[in-house]
Amino acid sequence: MTRFIFITGGVVSSLGKGLASAALGAVLQARGYKVRLRKLDPYLNVDPGTMSPYQHGECYVTDDGAETDLDLGHYERFTGVASRQSDNITTGRIYSNILAKERRGDYLGATVQVIPHVTDGIKEFVTNDLGDTDFLLCEVGGTVGDIESLPFLEAIRQLGNELGRERACFVHLTLVPWIASAGELKTKPTQHSVQELQSVGIRCDILLCRSEHEIPASARKKIALFCNLREEAVIPALNARTIYEVPIAYHREGFDREVLRHFGLPQPEPDLSRWAHIVKRITEPEGEVNIAIVGKYTNLLDAYKSLAEALAHGGVANNVRVNLNWIESELFEGIEPAFSALDDADAILVPGGFGERGAEGKIRAVRYAREKKVPYFGICFGMQMACIEAARNLVGLQRASTTEFGPTPEPVVGLLTEWTRGNSLERRGAGDNLGGTMRLGAYECDLVSGSRVAEIYGASRIQERHRHRYEVNVNYKTQLERAGLRFSGMSPDGQLPEIVEIPDHPWFVGVQFHPELKSKPFDPHPLFASFVKAALVQSRLV
Ligand code: GLN
Repeated sequence: MTRFIFITGGVVSSLGKGLASAALGAVLQARGYKVRLRKLDPYLNVDPGTMSPYQHGECYVTDDGAETDLDLGHYERFTGVASRQSDNITTGRIYSNILAKERRGDYLGATVQVIPHVTDGIKEFVTNDLGDTDFLLCEVGGTVGDIESLPFLEAIRQLGNELGRERACFVHLTLVPWIASAGELKTKPTQHSVQELQSVGIRCDILLCRSEHEIPASARKKIALFCNLREEAVIPALNARTIYEVPIAYHREGFDREVLRHFGLPQPEPDLSRWAHIVKRITEPEGEVNIAIVGKYTNLLDAYKSLAEALAHGGVANNVRVNLNWIESELFEGIEPAFSALDDADAILVPGGFGERGAEGKIRAVRYAREKKVPYFGICFGMQMACIEAARNLVGLQRASTTEFGPTPEPVVGLLTEWTRGNSLERRGAGDNLGGTMRLGAYECDLVSGSRVAEIYGASRIQERHRHRYEVNVNYKTQLERAGLRFSGMSPDGQLPEIVEIPDHPWFVGVQFHPELKSKPFDPHPLFASFVKAALVQSRLV
């Protein structure tokens, strides 16, 4: 029987609700329970695929090809449970489904309304596809009090009523701010937020209080009194040294105990050793490496959330701290490219990206890494730029480019309109909608035996997640291989280049997929572990 834990947020946004949900999932899992996490997003986009990562952070892609909120990345990194399309829904998707049904006439003349049609759609999503999960943790995006999230709150209120207290628990995350001039923590915003939640009929069972200061017993007591809770159900959530310490901190504060107590479930001791090990490696590293990430959007770290985490995991694997230096690629454009910005880089990475702006700078960064023999990792766009660089400077095709930037006489990277996935054929056209039409989700890739990547993975066939519209053009394979670029990973039908590497280089790998999406702190992705190791070797050379 699945039990439901609903997580709402109050007072302000950006309190880390996604992380809190993920970390609670991890502790319950450490107690031996099976968990799944889901997110309800109140915005009107059908999915975050069309949203700027600059506004919304990265778009996280699942194995089954869903473009989802970045919080699903936290869920996977903390629990190792692969997210699915059925784990993230937006108001836009719910309305789009309802409107399609309405147009088909499926409502048989009924008036279509927020209650019950929208709320039923939400409830169906929350309770669907659960298998033998013990706990479904369901995060409601936005902040209590927003107009947008009202239908979601109404739906979980109804669910709470239908399921009963034995199967539903409401956790509310708030802020307890420190007012410096008064030298005091203030509990009023939390009280108001709990009242706001009550005004839509939800009585919270556990309150999680984010604070930058230790919450004294007196404040905890006051919050409990005014919010109608037992003191033990008011859980302090202070800043941790690393996000991976949060599961341990929650357990110390009794968060998981309160959840299990609420449901009247047994409380087997959790095994948190995996988290203790990770925290030790992150807080007491034995060395450090500097990695330059050359891209766009570099002033918004959330745009590359999974990438930053995967690099940290590579650090955990090698017991070193990984310092990330985010560099705007446009620095390397023009007649005086500022390559001195790469002086202290032990390795260079060009991540995924879209559009022409900054692309020349990325291509130049690839050339720098290739010629100076600095370890290079190109991910998706970073692989495409590596192929264009090799075509221009190794093969001599000066006009090599990608059709993403417009028509080109040498389409080393181009739009493919048909490709196979397993046994089926996928199609897309140049004029298709932008939303949901890229090559998305997990695809198989065969590794060439004896290649660097075959050794790194220790496998001959792998599966990685994709999110891109353009492909390296297989018609240039022979020329590029003759010039020194090895196509070490191909789609099983041999049509789509998935990995390129330069054998005659300390570490030069470009991958068409996004390996960062599958890396976990307790299971660092082999490519990131190997890349950080190469950076470490490089740091000892200079
Ligand atoms: N813009 C490129 C494409 O669509 C690369 C996308 C990416 O890096 N995720 O193919």
